[in-house]
Formats: sequence, structure tokens, C-alpha cells
Amino acid sequence: MRGLYIGRFQPYHLGHETVLQEISQEMEEIVIAIGSAQESHTTTNPFTAGERMEMICASLRAVDLRSRCYVIPVEDINRNSIWVAHLQSMIPQFDVVYSNNPLVVRLFSEANVAVRKPPMCRRDVYSGTVIRKTMREGGDWKRLVPESVAAIIIKIGGVERLSSVSKSDAS
Ligand code: NAD
Repeated sequence: MRGLYIGRFQPYHLGHETVLQEISQEMEEIVIAIGSAQESHTTTNPFTAGERMEMICASLRAVDLRSRCYVIPVEDINRNSIWVAHLQSMIPQFDVVYSNNPLVVRLFSEANVAVRKPPMCRRDVYSGTVIRKTMREGGDWKRLVPESVAAIIIKIGGVERLSSVSKSDAS
């Protein structure tokens, strides 16, 4: 059986990693779709699809899951009603989708695809929103992401980028 895990992964964090490890107990293979692939350099989507792919692949290698996962960027389309078909046309076939995002769950359910909702793992801190805010405020964001992901964010100057794109030119 093959499972699909879809997310923006801005950035990929320990909550995502925990969910993937749980999915790997149930599925032989996992398709990880990097959503909103066209987005980068904004406060809510600071990292490019390529950077997010590097983060995910590095973390998968560290937990020995790389050989069982496909990692595929997928751009958004401006029509929710055909998004599932769009996604299906870009990735290998899958049997079950794993998500807690209400819109994602809704769209797959309407398309008669089996959906499983993985349990949340420390959502108060393992959250892209919280991690980006912690980065902007100079807090300890490194403890909220896998070590390999922290190394990539440091290498690409991710915190400085987030700080730059969060600024306004108003005096
Ligand atoms: P995300 O990175 O916020 O989360 C990915 C998944 O991980 C979600 O299911 C989320 O519930 C889960 N998760 C997050 N933190 C967790 C934690 N601490 N413990 C356990 N699980 C946790 O990504 P997202 O916003 O859900 O990504 C959905 C993607 O699908 C987006 O890129 C969106 O644009 C795309 N989408 C596009 C369209 C369209 O183009 N029309 C329509 C629907 C969705």
C-alpha cells in the first residue's frame, strides 16, 4: 500500500517527522507532496520548493526512510474543485491520504479517496506558524525541527531571509 502526505512544510518540523514515522508503520511507500511549490520568499512561505525538498530528504535519510518515499513538489491551482485531479496527475498512484487540513480532507473525501487523520503531535510548538514567529523573534527554533533541517536553514540564511521579507519599506 502507498500513502500520500501533503503539506507546505514551511519549514519541515518534528511534528511532520513524527507523522511520517507513524505512516511508515502502516504503508510500504509514501508519496510526500510539497504543496504551494510556486511560493517562496514571503512571511508565510519563506522557503522554495527545492529547499523544502532538501530539508525533507535530509530528514528522511536520518530516520532511514528515504528509500521508501517519493518527494514531489506540486504547484497550487486556483480551482479547489479540480485540485485533487491536478494533484493525482502529478504524483504516483496512492491508496490513502493522510491529512488534518480541513480543506484537504474535504476535497479528498468528495473525490472518494480514503482519508486518515494522524494524531497531532505537540501542535502548540510543532507548527510552521510558531516556528516562523520564533525565528523572527530570535528564539530557539532549532529544537523544533530535525537537526538536519536546522543545518540547511542555517546554510541558506533562512532566518535572515525571513527577517528581510517581513520588513516593510514604510518609514
Ligand atoms: P502543513 O505543512 O501546514 O501541514 C502538513 C500536514 O501536517 C497537515 O495535515 C497538518 O495537519 C499536519 N501537521 C502539522 N503540524 C503537525 C503536528 N504538530 N502534528 C501532527 N500533524 C501536523 O501544510 P498544509 O497547509 O496542510 O498543506 C496543504 C497544501 O495543499 C498547501 O500547499 C495548499 O496550498 C495545498 N492545497 C492546494 C489547493 C489548490 O491549489 N486549490 C487546494 C487545497 C490544498
